[in-house]
Amino acid sequence: LGMLLFLTLGACSSERGGGSGGEGGTGETDALIGISMPTKSLERWSRDGANLEKNLKEMGYRTSLQYADNKVEQQISQIQNIVNEGPKVLVVAAIDGSALAPVLDQAAGKGVKVIAYDRLIRDTESVDYYATFDNYRVGQLQGEFIVKALKLESEAGPFNFEPFSGSPDDNNARYFFEGAWDQLKPYLDQKKLEVPSGKAPASVDNWQSIGIQAWMAPAAQSEMENRLNSFYQGKKVQAVLAPNDALALGITQALEANGYSAGDDWPIITGQDADQANIRNILDGKQAMTVWKDTRELGDQVAKMVDQIVKGDDVEVNDTETYDNGRKVVPSFLIDPQVITKDNVQEKLVDSGYYSASDLGL
Ligand code: BGC
Repeated sequence: LGMLLFLTLGACSSERGGGSGGEGGTGETDALIGISMPTKSLERWSRDGANLEKNLKEMGYRTSLQYADNKVEQQISQIQNIVNEGPKVLVVAAIDGSALAPVLDQAAGKGVKVIAYDRLIRDTESVDYYATFDNYRVGQLQGEFIVKALKLESEAGPFNFEPFSGSPDDNNARYFFEGAWDQLKPYLDQKKLEVPSGKAPASVDNWQSIGIQAWMAPAAQSEMENRLNSFYQGKKVQAVLAPNDALALGITQALEANGYSAGDDWPIITGQDADQANIRNILDGKQAMTVWKDTRELGDQVAKMVDQIVKGDDVEVNDTETYDNGRKVVPSFLIDPQVITKDNVQEKLVDSGYYSASDLGL
């Protein structure tokens, strides 16, 4: 699997959409499309849901959009309710990628086509397509950034480094960690990076051993506080691999509580999602980078795929080898994520209209 993750995104192939309920080609543009999102508490999912809904409505579709408050049971019952409304296509960003097989099997039995949104849905045949950002690449960009920022190729180090990984029930979290670890592991082996807490898995397969149980700032904050209090007497941490912005925020809070200050002894911290609070931290020198996933691009792509499915057209995908969900390799469309630092916030995030200057205090 590791090898396959290096697939490039070049050529697009396509798969037959087949239309819903076998009516390929008729095209029902007022069809109902169900959207199930994990939570509103994380900024990106609110944007994802709103943006996808807007795109689909502009195309003439009716939508049913639900947010599940990060509770698996709630997501399952919301999906059940949507399925009862008779959608043609269901777009699902799973909370627990392994918990949705039964409800999606029911949906498939009723002829509903399923697109896994951002996170792969595992252990079921009843997922037709997957649309996401290249998850391995997200981690790779974070790892590469740390390598460059600490000049690990030339500097001897050792530098004190603390890695974090994401929620164990999220299929993406492994890819994020693997992408980063492939960049960083050689420098751990050369002892240019040292992990005073000892929380460095011997192999990528053990990534869950340092997983933060939920993608939430408080969990990362208390973990970072524990590491600082127990292993950093007379030492400073110089780099932290944070897989996303929520965790980066918690880590930042722990550092502040521990007396670290920006522009002085602040470590390099990575992130993902370009959340508003984190962009402000980037501008204030408290986070070095974030990996931006322009959710508008994902929304545009998924709306296009929905439309192709409903119309019975070929569905555009660009990867048919990477995402094996345990039952099948799900045809996928992968989008390229981008690195944001303080030098390109204006150009990438403000000029493109993702944020207004005032959102960011500019
Ligand atoms: C998403 C990330 C997000 C994380 C927490 C992942 O599956 O890909 O963008 O930070 O979940 O919600």
